[in-house]
Amino acid sequence: EVLLSGTDLIKSFGPTDALEGASMLVHENEIVAILGPSGSGKSTLLHCLAGIVAPDNGVVSYRGRDLAAMTDKERSALRRTDFGFVFQFGQLVPELSCLENVALPLRLGGARRKDAEATAREWMDRIEVGHLTGKRPGEISGGQGQRVAVARALVTGPKVIFADEPTGALDSFNGEQVIRLLVDTARDTGASIVLVTHEARVAAYSDREVVVRDGKTRQVALAH
Ligand code: ADP
Ligand code: ADP
Repeated sequence: EVLLSGTDLIKSFGPTDALEGASMLVHENEIVAILGPSGSGKSTLLHCLAGIVAPDNGVVSYRGRDLAAMTDKERSALRRTDFGFVFQFGQLVPELSCLENVALPLRLGGARRKDAEATAREWMDRIEVGHLTGKRPGEISGGQGQRVAVARALVTGPKVIFADEPTGALDSFNGEQVIRLLVDTARDTGASIVLVTHEARVAAYSDREVVVRDGKTRQVALAH
């Protein structure tokens, strides 16, 4: 079952052609890695699929719904309820405790503080960062911060996890832990992952690889 698709996507930033006809599919319960050299358009492709960037041309469709046909409000609601995001740098809010950070997506969705924090605590325990609930992001290590960011991405029970270089700022030990955590949780919850990475070791956790070169999806290889 196809969950998410991008077809013939074109996107320019001023004179720069970031995507020049990129297409890819994400099935249910599938982990797809987007590989390619720096500047080839990987992040732009991910942002288009996630409804963060509007393509100049081409269609992004989630569960058969054209993202361009939705209002901004509908797209934000979709991002909040169905999508989770992990970036290279955790982007935790420094003024909030780790627990408050993880609870934030639920709070933004209208959940009461007590309920949001109870769910956040469960996820932090599950990901083995339960001991960090009271800490602020500045007081923990990069690897711990990325695990907290993973908990935050998962707390709403997303159907698709968008991970843009989630291990890019980590050493290989912590990187391995974070990618395993993402993959194991996705398998447990039935979520799909769209994973941008330039590390073959990280891409090896995917079911399928899409290679982007010069803004085009040149090769769609069956992996592993
Ligand atoms: P990758 O993720 O493969 O490194 P990106 O999708 O980030 O590639 O970028 C593709 C091209 O588009 C690059 O030349 C980049 O500089 C450019 N680009 C990406 N985002 C923007 C932006 N917001 N403004 C201007 N140029 C951008
Ligand atoms: P800009 O047009 O300044 O480059 P973006 O391309 O990032 O900015 O997005 C412009 C607007 O289009 C944003 O408000 C965004 O919410 C909305 N948008 C995002 N994804 C899509 C999409 N797939 N189709 C149509 N509009 C989208």
